[in-house]
Amino acid sequence: MKIMALNFAVYSLLLCVFALFASSRETDFVSTNPNCHRKLPCFIPYSLLPAGRFDNNLFPPGALMPATEPRIVIVGGGFGGLFTALDLAGAGSVTLISDEDHFLFTPMLYEYLSGEVEEWHIAPKYGELLDDNLRLVQGAVTTIDLSQRRVMVDASDEPIEYDILVLAVGGVTNYAGVPGAEEFAIPFRKIAHADLLRSRMVAALDHVPPNLPPQDTRQALTFAVTGAGASGVELSTKMADLLRDAFERRALTGEPRVLVIEMGQKIVPGMGEAIREFVAEALTESRVEVHTLTRVVQITQNTVTVEHNGARTEIETAAVVWTGGVRANPVIDSLAIEKTNRGLILVEPTLQVRAHQNVFALGDIAFFKDASPILAGTGQLALQQAGLAARNIRALIDGRQLHTRHFEEMGEAVSLGTERAAVLAGGKAFGGALARQARFALYTSRLPTWHHRLRVGASWFFEGTTARPLLPLGIKQDTQSRQ
Ligand SMILES: Cc1cc2nc3c(=O)[nH]c(=O)nc-3n(C[C@H](O)[C@H](O)[C@H](O)COP(=O)(O)OP(=O)(O)OC[C@H]3O[C@@H](n4cnc5c(N)ncnc54)[C@H](O)[C@@H]3O)c2cc1C
Repeated sequence: MKIMALNFAVYSLLLCVFALFASSRETDFVSTNPNCHRKLPCFIPYSLLPAGRFDNNLFPPGALMPATEPRIVIVGGGFGGLFTALDLAGAGSVTLISDEDHFLFTPMLYEYLSGEVEEWHIAPKYGELLDDNLRLVQGAVTTIDLSQRRVMVDASDEPIEYDILVLAVGGVTNYAGVPGAEEFAIPFRKIAHADLLRSRMVAALDHVPPNLPPQDTRQALTFAVTGAGASGVELSTKMADLLRDAFERRALTGEPRVLVIEMGQKIVPGMGEAIREFVAEALTESRVEVHTLTRVVQITQNTVTVEHNGARTEIETAAVVWTGGVRANPVIDSLAIEKTNRGLILVEPTLQVRAHQNVFALGDIAFFKDASPILAGTGQLALQQAGLAARNIRALIDGRQLHTRHFEEMGEAVSLGTERAAVLAGGKAFGGALARQARFALYTSRLPTWHHRLRVGASWFFEGTTARPLLPLGIKQDTQSRQ
């Protein structure tokens, strides 16, 4: 009881700190305007922006202004799209189109794999998040016609017309042309991927009898993760902890083998030294084998072939998980708009797509110049951009000035196995069980809608966040949600 009360106090305190921290960052506007002072709200006057680009003549009085309320269509319901939609409620006729029926809080997909959190915590259905002001269309957008101002969705022959379009379709797994990768590796971006990986881990364990010699057990329970970025290390430590727990419960001999294969020189290249130390320590503690300067060159149903110093080795595997890269969603490939050589949409400081002032793009598909480089391809950037996009869309409709913002990192948090994490907040890194709790508190404050945050926070306080063991199939429906 005492421990629970202490837990509650620590968690509440951390939640308050993070909520305050998040809201203070929210008002931390810093524009590219050299006359602005840091920490003060600051908007760019048109005169300081490139001539001609930012004239807000989309809806000048009596001209293009739609007779009814403006139709705002948002494509993609992830960090960028959902949070823009929530911020825009009531600003016009807002339609959110998503190929899924739920949002996904990806930073906790690892905890979903381990059973520390449940599906409803991190993947709430849009129906629970959107109120009556927002219309949801479930389906994949197949065509975007910028000249006719309409989009087509696979589920219908009827075009969806817009006055203002928000593009937030995110990224897809980039297999980098490695033979067999797309066919045999498991990606790790969705609930279904985590379910598949968990069932492959259980199936592999179920095939190993307790009397199998340790070397055979190790071979049968070898899992490879490609890429030692944040995703690769978070996933591999989680998998290693889960497997080691299963070994004890099933009285298996020897130990499992989890490999991380990284073609670069170091792990988590995007992170600072302070947090990297915690990551390296956790990888060692979880007995994850890290192979740097090693390239995956082929994947089959049950092998991965790697190349190091010109020598190739084929390793038998129970599964290979691909966390080796992301590329922009192919839906935007066909759009005749300015992009970087990596296929990202070049956006103005206001998040408007160049030469299309009624189209906004954000998140993983957009290249936004005025952001800390470390933020590229992160949910925290998409989340911050959503606030700016919504604000600028309202301004565009009202004929007011559009704004810009400089985006900074809001801190880092990595999960490291089922018992610990590492957090970087306010320039200080800390690790262990407290960091794990801080991460839960931090992420509670980042979930969409207050209602959902409170439900999830209460569930984590009172029902706990311990991992769900990899029990043999047949003993218990392993992937079944506890809701
Ligand atoms: C496992 C994992 C862990 C991560 N951890 C972190 C972390 O700890 N911190 C962090 O900052 N970032 C993290 N990220 C990165 C973060 O998830 C992305 O940067 C962020 O989701 C980008 O937001 P977005 O809105 O651009 O795209 P997304 O959030 O990916 O949203 C895109 C949405 O568009 C939908 N969609 C796609 N195509 C179509 C279509 N044709 N029609 C309709 N809808 C479509 C998708 O279903 C999805 O709902 C993680 C990513 C993964 C995969």
